[in-house]
Amino acid sequence: TFKALVIDKTDAGQTVGFREFDEADLMDGDVTIRVSHSTLNYKDGLALTGKAPVVRRFPMIPGVDLVGTVEASSHPEFKGGDAVILNGWGLGETHLGAYAQKVRVKGDWLIPLPEGLTPQQSMAIGTAGYTAMLCLMALEKHGLTPERGPAIVTGAAGGVGSVAVALLAQAGWHVIAATGRPQEAAYLKSLGAAEILERSDLAGPVRPLGKERWAAGIDTIGSVPLANVISMTRYGGAVAACGLAAGMDLPASVAPFILRGVSLLGVDSVMAPRPLRIEAWNRLAQELDLAKLASMTSIIPLEEVMEAGSRIVAGQVKGRVVVEIG
Ligand code: NAP
Repeated sequence: TFKALVIDKTDAGQTVGFREFDEADLMDGDVTIRVSHSTLNYKDGLALTGKAPVVRRFPMIPGVDLVGTVEASSHPEFKGGDAVILNGWGLGETHLGAYAQKVRVKGDWLIPLPEGLTPQQSMAIGTAGYTAMLCLMALEKHGLTPERGPAIVTGAAGGVGSVAVALLAQAGWHVIAATGRPQEAAYLKSLGAAEILERSDLAGPVRPLGKERWAAGIDTIGSVPLANVISMTRYGGAVAACGLAAGMDLPASVAPFILRGVSLLGVDSVMAPRPLRIEAWNRLAQELDLAKLASMTSIIPLEEVMEAGSRIVAGQVKGRVVVEIG
């Protein structure tokens, strides 16, 4: 047996607690891994609190990200002792997840721990950081460069947001960090933000076309703020949308699309194909300033993840959280 955090569903709602879990009850897969670290993402907070139906099988071990060491493998690419990472693919949603000492998964979901990153650094990046890189890659694929104008990041003090600010600044962008926590201005500037925009500036009624303010955007919150970001995007610009912290809706007009040629680029990390993941992780290992990464990261033991999960859905977590498992 091994220790795991388990979500169960009862008539009264959901329960979350630690349990000795039997290795025989692990799910199908060709690689068994001893987990050393996981992370806390917004989605993990939704699963832990039951605030949204992220978990689609009970009992479930939550946790969508892991790094660890292969214990046993019948997959041709992995052997005992290999250091591997896993992000998404339904981990913690449909497949028993990372808040446990052991997992059994499909080898096709794994990628080797990128060279230059420690296990802990890989989880400081986690799904949030890897998604921030996918957003930057989407903007670049669209042909956008820092010469075109500023880039805005919404939910900037959060996990995806903090990494996005650091990556955009490193790539030479003039970064506008939009936050509901102006008290974090110094933090955001230390990550590379050139300007701070108050969340309330994006909360107002959405005009079909606003003043053209930025060429690119990485949006982690959706809803009215995203609609406003789109309406204030410069001619030919684009916004990469990956999140819903402010809501799932998008009360926008088509005016920016049809009158300014603005594009909305959807970004998904969970089912992203392996070559794209490997490209994103290689770039993270090369481009992300590890001192900035350390400055945005806090480390908690697994025992504290439930409390932290409540804080992240309340918008109270700054930067990234690494969860120690091993
Ligand atoms: P996070 O650390 O909680 O960051 C979210 C940030 O959004 C908060 O820190 C806060 O930033 C802002 N925020 C929170 N509640 C808000 C509200 N009601 N209205 C406006 N702003 C609000 O979470 P995360 O792990 O970075 O994830 C961010 C989002 O990206 C989540 O929605 C998550 O589900 C999504 N995501 C999607 C993918 C994908 O594959 N598409 C992958 C990873 C994450 P400020 O205090 O700075 O305003």
